[in-house]
Amino acid sequence: MSLIRLKPFLQSSFSIRTISTTKLCTEKSTEKKSTTNTNEPVGISKDRSQVIPVETSIKYLKSNAYKETYGEQPVWTQYRRNFKGAFAPKKTRKTCIRNKVISTGNPCPICRDEYLVLSENNPELLQQFICPHTGTILSYQKTGLCQKKHFELLVSVQRARDRGILTFDVPFRNYDYSLYYK
Ligand SMILES: [Zn+2]
Repeated sequence: MSLIRLKPFLQSSFSIRTISTTKLCTEKSTEKKSTTNTNEPVGISKDRSQVIPVETSIKYLKSNAYKETYGEQPVWTQYRRNFKGAFAPKKTRKTCIRNKVISTGNPCPICRDEYLVLSENNPELLQQFICPHTGTILSYQKTGLCQKKHFELLVSVQRARDRGILTFDVPFRNYDYSLYYK
């Protein structure tokens, strides 16, 4: 009796399994797995595991390839931030590179070009992020740098100024010269 009762149950379960729903689920899961597997090796353009020395970056800034891509303008001029709604968030993203791979579709102007290395020995690049009129470091709201690269910029500019690689003007001070000349 028990077998007879079980048989239709088994059949029904089988019939349910053969129905497309389960098949689709398995297919979807395999597709997802396959896509993640293909993503793991990562395209060359998104791979940032290689550490590029400053010397090559300095050479790159003087090369024809650099001139073709950026021209005479600073590196960040052609960059536009992507954001939801009418107003951009106050801060830019924390970082563009996670686990040595670019994790966003719109990486910041420094992260998107791996040959741009922020360093105190690369003043030509640092100069592009300093206002020619006031001598202050441009905000990340203007340049679009991610927070990580902006901090690197602040550090390298300070180091360059300390070592005399970048020049800067001391703020103007008014003295009472009557105390000096009597
Ligand atoms: Zn970035």
